[in-house]
Amino acid sequence: MAVRPKVAFFEFTSCEGCQLTVVDSLQTHPELLEAVEIVRFREAMSEKGDDYLIAFIEGSCTRPSDEPHLKAIRERAGVVVALGACAHLGGVNAIRNRQELSELRRYVYGDKAEWYETYPARPISAVIPVDATIPGCPIDREEFIRVVKAVLQGRAPQLPDYPVCVECKLKENVCLYLRGKTCLGPIALAGCDAICPTYGDSCEACRGLIPNPNIESLKNVLAEHGLSVEQTMAKMTMFLTYQTMESEAAAHGNGKR
Ligand code: SF4
Ligand code: SF4
Ligand code: SF4
Repeated sequence: MAVRPKVAFFEFTSCEGCQLTVVDSLQTHPELLEAVEIVRFREAMSEKGDDYLIAFIEGSCTRPSDEPHLKAIRERAGVVVALGACAHLGGVNAIRNRQELSELRRYVYGDKAEWYETYPARPISAVIPVDATIPGCPIDREEFIRVVKAVLQGRAPQLPDYPVCVECKLKENVCLYLRGKTCLGPIALAGCDAICPTYGDSCEACRGLIPNPNIESLKNVLAEHGLSVEQTMAKMTMFLTYQTMESEAAAHGNGKR
């Protein structure tokens, strides 16, 4: 049998829901197990191999001690793939970034607050170069398969660069704005087949932003539909706290944190 590329999965701050989706994907695409050798995958095996070509990293960087760990993975891996919104965007973990850190620690850890190292949550691309991304919270199982196949063939995986509204229109959904609701579809990166609006829920942009999103214009639309500044901020911060704070910092002339 030909030598199969070695693959490892790593988890940082996350719920591990994206890795569970990988397990799901492998059940319907067992052919992938013929194409790679998995050497580390906490969801499915106890071995912890340190020799791998492709590293899938789930979760955000939330502690100083995460940084050397991420850098060591980057040094060993030929290809690093960010798996899911926590790794890709900072995701829900970054909601806390707008809170004062010492207060937050006291709230969560009480009088043991000083025992725990923690700092503002960041996507892994803020610490190491990333070669490919599988967006979403959780990831889409079919997109996972497509990205893996592209990586194995030495191709850059293609993700859509248009908004969720395009997929939503193709599904002939009635827009949520016409049903008395609001939605981030106009600025959110497509690829999920507009699953949330299709089932009547607002898009929260778990796959991140399209290139050059007109956020100010969307904020005006949200205001016209009755959302207060606080409600708009709450909507924008489910998955996009890190990105919106970076934009604010850039607008005020601050560099990267
Ligand atoms: S992106 Fe969502 S499903 Fe995936 S690990 Fe993070 S919180 Fe869990
Ligand atoms: S429901 Fe959301 S995604 Fe669908 S068309 Fe309206 S704004 Fe766009
Ligand atoms: S509709 Fe929006 S929130 Fe829902 S999966 Fe797609 S990008 Fe994520």
